[in-house]
Order: sequence, then structure tokens, then C-alpha cells
Amino acid sequence: MTTAVLGRGKAGTAAEKTKESMSDRVLSGHAVTAAARDPLAGLLAEVRACRACEAVLPLGPRPVLRAAAAARLLIVGQAPGTRVHHTGVPWDDPSGDRLRAWLDLDRDAFYDTARVAIVPMGFCYPGRDKSGGDLPPRQECAPLWHARLRALLPRIELTLLVGRYAQAYYLGKRARASLAETVGAWRGYLPEHLPLPHPSWRTRAWVKRNPWFEAEVVPALRAEVHRLLTTP
Ligand code: SF4
Repeated sequence: MTTAVLGRGKAGTAAEKTKESMSDRVLSGHAVTAAARDPLAGLLAEVRACRACEAVLPLGPRPVLRAAAAARLLIVGQAPGTRVHHTGVPWDDPSGDRLRAWLDLDRDAFYDTARVAIVPMGFCYPGRDKSGGDLPPRQECAPLWHARLRALLPRIELTLLVGRYAQAYYLGKRARASLAETVGAWRGYLPEHLPLPHPSWRTRAWVKRNPWFEAEVVPALRAEVHRLLTTP
């Protein structure tokens, strides 16, 4: 078989081309059938093949997200860091540990895709800026994919908007001038959305300056997450 392929030359015969195009049609027919059977799996496969900003991604495309149609809670964060890029597991870092502590979820519950969907604003590691910080999520990503993914997650009741990029995208003009103001107005965004600060190490100082966050927002967040993940 290898010999036949090697001996065929670049152009190939008309019969071979016809055969190839028929088998392409069969393969793409299978893909269409699979996508029709499970549209979310089909879309996730499309996302994983995305190369839209390949030219500017320093480590290349590696979309990191998780979703299943049964999920009730959606977490929209920023973009993977280098560690998450390498493991392919979202929030698999100290920020994730802090977020799980706020939610009062262990790793098993947090990574249970039947209950929790994790869809960041940018699916691939975007690189670093001149001062060594992570660049913002790629702007191409959310407009390309979020509405299509969200349409296939019909059971989501609450979306956690983690950080200013997610808040700006999902709340639009309803986002306030600062992160503290937006998170402070959390009651007004329920029941659909709940804004949170990004739980990076820098947030420790923010939490100290805004003690109402741990006193009021975190208990309400835990109660809502617990209700969503424990009721049918
Ligand atoms: S960041 Fe998003 S749009 Fe860009 S290559 Fe990755 S999946 Fe595609």
C-alpha cells in the first residue's frame, strides 16, 4: 500500500482521485453524522482543531476547556497560563486552588463535567507582555466560540464571571467602572451571572481591601453552587 502511494506521483490518476474524494465524502459524512448525534462533542472537536490565532501564540494552539450538556454551572475565566497549557487541565494551578476554596469544591466535584463547564475567554495560552505578566485572552476567541458553546449547554443556571475580561464580555454596559464595583454589585447580576475577581496571587491584597467579598459574596456563592450541584 505504501509502495502504491509512493509510486503514484503528485498528481495521481483520475481513478485514484475519484476514489479519494469518495472516501473523503464518506469520512466527512461520518463526521457529520457524529456531530448530529452529539452536537456538543462535534463543536468541541471543532474548537480543538482551531488555528485562528496560531500565528501569534508563542506555544501554539492548545485550547483548554471542558463542557458537557448536563452541566449546571459555567465558569468563564481568562486564559490558560503556561502550566495549564502543558497539563491541558483548566485551573490546575494555585489560582484554581483559590477558586475551589471560594466555591468550597474539591477537585473531583470541580472537574465533574456533568456538573461544571469551564470555558475561558481565551482557550489558548496567549503569551507574556513586556513586564512578564500574561497577556489578555485572545480577542478572537470568545466571539468565535462562546455563543455556539453556550447554545449547547441548555442546563446552565449560573455563570461565574471570573475577572474583568469575562465581566466586560458578558455584562457589557452593565459592568461597573472597576472590578470592586462590579463584584460589589453582585446581587444585581443574579440569578444568571455572578462576577468574581480573578483568584491569582494578586487577589489576596484585593480581598484584604474588600473584606465584604469573603463576608458576603463567598457564602452566597457557596450556597448557590451547593444548591446547583446537589439538586437534580
Ligand atoms: S485562542 Fe481561541 S481562537 Fe485562538 S487558536 Fe485558540 S481556540 Fe482558536
